[in-house]
This record gives sequence, structure tokens and C-alpha cells, in this order.
Amino acid sequence: MNAIAARLPLILNELRLPTVKRLWAGLAEQSNKEGWPAERFLAAVMEHELAERETRRLERHRMESQILPGKLLSNFDFTAVPSVSKAHVAALVEGDGWIDQGANLLLFGPPGVGKSHLVCAIGNGLIDRGYRVYFTRTSDLVQRLQLARREMRLPAEITKLDRFDLLILDDLSYVRRDQAETSVLFELIAARYERKSLALTANQPFSGWDQVFPDAAMTLAAVDRLVHHSTIIELNVESYRRRAAASGTVPAPQQPKGKKD
Ligand code: ADP
Ligand code: MG
Repeated sequence: MNAIAARLPLILNELRLPTVKRLWAGLAEQSNKEGWPAERFLAAVMEHELAERETRRLERHRMESQILPGKLLSNFDFTAVPSVSKAHVAALVEGDGWIDQGANLLLFGPPGVGKSHLVCAIGNGLIDRGYRVYFTRTSDLVQRLQLARREMRLPAEITKLDRFDLLILDDLSYVRRDQAETSVLFELIAARYERKSLALTANQPFSGWDQVFPDAAMTLAAVDRLVHHSTIIELNVESYRRRAAASGTVPAPQQPKGKKD
């Protein structure tokens, strides 16, 4: 190996170009053999670096999202929920403007009908398209925001969540009455209004939500902001879990249920 080649690994480390470091030798050999112009070789190694960076970035976004593993559109059985249009969900995954406008997505239905699965599947699709998503149980997030409020850093904590294009609040209905006494959830909703999207799952549309906010006026104000720019998906079927158990074919949710499209 000549002296220039010997220095390359150091240079590439310093510049943080791990993919170039891994691939340059093979590409250089091919380039020398086939007499590539210098710019073709340079473009080839750099394109590899760029592609791997993008892959690593998406992996990082998927990790940080805390989305439930294995909940994908490819293993979501749309025939089980006739009220949900596959094309509509596909359009949501495309982003088609709603995320950029900070609009919301509300999913309602009794337990076990696939709300969490569907919202995670949409979240996963958006991550693939470069958006940043964060999934949390609503009561966990409320707890975290309450702690921030006690430590006088609620605005900063809410601002931290701004880095996510979509914040998924799963199971709003399970916020405890005593958690509602502080208005942190309202502050979050108000802060993201018309700026950053929220997706929310709940057992009932709006009834019982006064359990979740300190008083009726605040419930109304929260609902108003949530629905102003929103898509509502209602899953009103019998529990998928229960049906699966009854038919004796408990599906393995991690496994794709046959190819679609
Ligand atoms: P919910 O959030 O409405 O209570 P989940 O999304 O947790 O319901 O669904 C319960 C279980 O059933 C999960 O394992 C989920 O993956 C599975 N499931 C529900 N609906 C479907 C569906 N339409 N297709 C495939 N799996 C489903
Ligand atoms: Mg759920």
C-alpha cells in the first residue's frame, strides 16, 4: 500500500466518513481497472456515504420514537375494521400536508380494536418518509410533564417535544383523575396547536374527557384545538384480540399476514 493510501483511514476517521473508509479500496480498484474519470470515483464513494447516513438516520429516528415494535401497515388487517379505509390511511402515511400543517389525528374505539397498532403503523410509515415521531402512553407523558412543572421547567420540556413532527399520545382515556388536576396536558395541546401534529387514541370520542382535564371549560378548549384541523378515525368493531381468541386463531401480530399490494 502506498503512503497516500496508508493515510486515508486516518483522514476518513477524522472526517467521520465511515462508509467511504469501508468501501473506497474496492471502488478504487474497480475505478483503476476500468479507467473511471476522477469525478466518477469521487461521486461513487460519496453517494455510498450519503445513502448509509440516511439509513442510519432513519434507524436513529425509529429507535427514539419508542413506537411499539412490529406494528406495521403490512400486518394490519383492514378487513377486520371496515370503517377504516386503507387508501385514507395510506394518504396519511404519505404525510400529504397534514403533518407539515401541524394537523391532528384522532383514533377512537373500544379496547382491543387496533388503535395502538394502527397509529404505530402510521408513525412507522412517517418515519420512513423522514419525519420524526414519538410514541408515549398519555399517562406516562403527563407524569413527565408534571415533574417538569414542579421543577419549573414545563415550557422547556414542551419545547423539547417540538423536535417531533408527530407526537403520539396513546390511551388518553387512561389518564388518572388525580393526574388531571394539573393542566399540563392542556398546555401541551395548546403549545402544539397549528404547529406540530398530535395523534391521540382514546376509548370514547370526547365523552368522559372531563376526567382528563381540570374543568369543563378546559376540556372544551382542548377538544376545540384538537379537532380544529384533524382527521378522525373511528374503529367501532369488536375487539380484535377477543375475536382472534374466540376463533382459536390468535394471530402472531409480529408476523406479516401475507403480502398486500
Ligand atoms: P387498542 O389499542 O385499540 O386497544 P391494539 O392495537 O393494542 O388495540 O390491538 C390489540 C392486539 O390486536 C394487538 O396485538 C394488535 O396488533 C392486534 N390487532 C388489532 N387489530 C388488528 C388488525 N386489524 N390487524 C392486525 N392485528 C390487529
Ligand atoms: Mg391501545
